[in-house]
Amino acid sequence: MQWRIGNGYDIHRLVAGRPLVLGGVRLDHRLGLDGHSDADVLVHALMDALLGALALGDIGRHFPPDDERWRGADSLVLLDHVVALLAQRDWRVANVDSVVVAERPRLRPHIDAMRANLAARLGIPHDAVGVKATTNEQLGPVGREEGIAAHAVALLWRNGP
Ligand code: MG
Repeated sequence: MQWRIGNGYDIHRLVAGRPLVLGGVRLDHRLGLDGHSDADVLVHALMDALLGALALGDIGRHFPPDDERWRGADSLVLLDHVVALLAQRDWRVANVDSVVVAERPRLRPHIDAMRANLAARLGIPHDAVGVKATTNEQLGPVGREEGIAAHAVALLWRNGP
């Protein structure tokens, strides 16, 4: 068995007039994340972790922000593209873990729904998808609610020597 690990990070600015979507879950909040797609920072960090495990570059390369196809895109659909890239190379996801850094809203009630979305798209069991939430203790731009950040790691495997 062969193994590869990757890590990903992303941050998006919080602005008025945008939906807040995290892990494919739309949250009720007065601010949303700004970006070309739906700006789902958790899915973006996860995609970078998956791509990074195979040194396939980053999501900016695969989904350029000036490409009209991705305007307002559901990031879970972008995740499907990334999973297909891995599958083409016979790689499968063993597990992923992540942390979302946000002062508000409270994410805990939504964590299981995010995990279920990601597990379904990755084709792995629910218990192989970690999503955690923390605040930034009111420190820095995330602490001032100017943005939301996410970190992710992914472990991939394939059969072979
Ligand atoms: Mg992003």
